Amino acid sequence: MTTAIVVGSGPNGLAAATALARYGMDVTVFEAADEIGGGTRSSEAIVPGLLHDHCSAVHPMAVGSPFLRTLGLERYGLTWRWPEIDCVHPLDDGDAGVLHRSIEETAEGLGSDAHRWRRLFRPAKSFDDWAADIMGPLVRIPDHPLRLARFGAPTALPASTLARLFRTEKARALFGGAAAHAFRPLHLPMTSAIGLGILTAGHRYGWPVAAGGSRAITDALAALLADLGGKIETGVRVRKITDLPPADIVMFDLAPAAVADILGDRLPPRVARAYRRFRHGPGAFKVDFAVECGVPWTNPHAREAGTVHLGGPYEEVARTEREVHAGRMPDRPFVLVGQQYLADPGRSAGAVHPLWSYAHVPHGYTGDATEAIIRQIERFAPGFRDRVVGMAVRTTTEFAAYNPNYVGGDIVTGAKDIRQLVFGPRIAPNPYATGVPGMYLCSAATPPGPGAHGMCGAHAARNALRDLERRRDRVPDRGRNTEG
Ligand SMILES: Cc1cc2nc3c(=O)[nH]c(=O)nc-3n(C[C@H](O)[C@H](O)[C@H](O)COP(=O)(O)OP(=O)(O)OC[C@H]3O[C@@H](n4cnc5c(N)ncnc54)[C@H](O)[C@@H]3O)c2cc1C
Repeated sequence: MTTAIVVGSGPNGLAAATALARYGMDVTVFEAADEIGGGTRSSEAIVPGLLHDHCSAVHPMAVGSPFLRTLGLERYGLTWRWPEIDCVHPLDDGDAGVLHRSIEETAEGLGSDAHRWRRLFRPAKSFDDWAADIMGPLVRIPDHPLRLARFGAPTALPASTLARLFRTEKARALFGGAAAHAFRPLHLPMTSAIGLGILTAGHRYGWPVAAGGSRAITDALAALLADLGGKIETGVRVRKITDLPPADIVMFDLAPAAVADILGDRLPPRVARAYRRFRHGPGAFKVDFAVECGVPWTNPHAREAGTVHLGGPYEEVARTEREVHAGRMPDRPFVLVGQQYLADPGRSAGAVHPLWSYAHVPHGYTGDATEAIIRQIERFAPGFRDRVVGMAVRTTTEFAAYNPNYVGGDIVTGAKDIRQLVFGPRIAPNPYATGVPGMYLCSAATPPGPGAHGMCGAHAARNALRDLERRRDRVPDRGRNTEG
């Protein structure tokens, strides 16, 4: 039987594992942590009964993932739940940009920018037709070139250029907050791509959370994998390739430099150089709160929103993202707040609710951003501080210890500049190939990049299977690759 090994059990590792197991391979996943899930883990913390997502929280790209949607993960317990409102970006005067799943409802709230919002997000209506084109390597012939071009052209622009389309502060801020998910200075080319991606996916599928915590995504993938005969071993940190048994295919759900360390001399020198030069972006500093009676947001829509973006007007968000990128910690960083319990009330303990938040901070930031996060929440929800009954902090260093893929606290596995967003760690026709036959990179360092959508893993697996068939056509009976 053909064998495959996957190193790392994040959503991409498990997506690759299920894709290979569905093909009939004997798959084993090795995971360094004591539990599976990578950036989708959730557990009780702070107060008994209060469920927190340790990393990913909101899932427009996972619910719309062309790969995950083929798996029937609802049979394995994955249920999506939608908040009343997807996202709110409050302003200091109490007004806010409000994102609904409906383009029309969102546009209506944006005053004189209504028609501009409608026009920009019209492609959301045909999202399913071209999602597979954007959620994969961009250097290939798309299945729907014209539809893709309509969506794709604006993604090449700096977010600052697209933001100028809008006249109202709330539309600019709503767009800017989404664009800031790229962790890039917003005046740089292609900084619109990630924001447009999550907003457009949101207008098709909303910004749901997984019932029972984000871990339900990878728990469902693991259950499917088990049904397909796959195995997972936790508590196994792979440090060198000889730690692994021989296999026909090896997939690494890891940061590129870790793969260079593991493969050592086996990696072609040009690939080793590219993996070691791979750039990481700014970091995240996370604070989970236990909050009595929820957050007293001034803006009433924010009280119903799954996600709240805190950074004030567009210009302020752009300035703080520039600062963070330059290695300076701003006084008022961009903060993302998750109120998953609104959609999934089982995460709360009576009137005490779990609040998820993180700030964008410089790469490897060693300071404490807790107070800056609390001040940003207080700015739009006076009285918040008095409702906090407990909190848990994760610094950039702790993020890197929690998951080695988050180098310097970089939770999106690599700076998403044009080159790395389009090609991943190196410019090559197959961005997943390591150059060692049968071995592939499948983490969020590869296209289409971060998120719990599993598409990096699915594409890497597809490439691996295609290469395996080619290898077998060329050398029909040479048997297994024992490069491991
Ligand atoms: C605070 C935070 C908020 C986020 N918010 C969202 C969000 O709301 N929505 C969203 O879609 N995404 C979000 N993300 C991003 C998302 O979690 C990641 O993009 C996604 O998890 C990447 O998946 P992956 O499979 O590539 O890698 P990971 O999920 O990082 O998994 C990699 C796995 O490999 C294991 N590993 C590493 N080194 C080794 C080794 N040497 N041997 C064995 N195992 C190893 C790790 O322990 C880990 O389990 C967030 C992330 C963080 C941290």
